[in-house]
Amino acid sequence: MLPLTETQIQHSFVNASRKEISDLALPLDFATTDWDRLDCFGWRDRKAPRRAYVFVWLDDSPVGVLLRQAEAVPRTRAQCSWCQDVNLTNEVVFYGAKRAGQSGRKGDTVGTLICANFGCSANVRKRPPLAYIGFDVDAAREKRVDDLRVRARGFARAVLGDASRPDAAGEA
Ligand SMILES: [Zn+2]
Repeated sequence: MLPLTETQIQHSFVNASRKEISDLALPLDFATTDWDRLDCFGWRDRKAPRRAYVFVWLDDSPVGVLLRQAEAVPRTRAQCSWCQDVNLTNEVVFYGAKRAGQSGRKGDTVGTLICANFGCSANVRKRPPLAYIGFDVDAAREKRVDDLRVRARGFARAVLGDASRPDAAGEA
């Protein structure tokens, strides 16, 4: 994905208050982020338990979503709905996001079950485990990367509540 600056991060949230944005703590290793290997940029706030953030690019603009980890713990071995990693080595949690604008102020939220530490981009770049002769590993990996982008953007669109573009599925 295209790199994000600290300023872009602070100005691209669609569902966070000024106070929430001023309180956020960037990851300690932010300066060394390898943007080329990311499809979405997410992190947990080390200073605010249960709070996390995720960014994607939508139509050449960064979109940031503030997430809150649900109290309820998903059943064990839940699968991440973004990377659908089959190795199940990551902790998967349920994150909820307030919708942007009016509906969010009324308490409307969107939820998603994803890797707690946003390892999705790394997961989809792993070699598929069940390769057989003639199996196109690169194509399979590319497909998983594309799928992750579509799903992460679809989530951002759901938070935005953009009814004019119902789903990201037609984007590829
Ligand atoms: Zn994941």
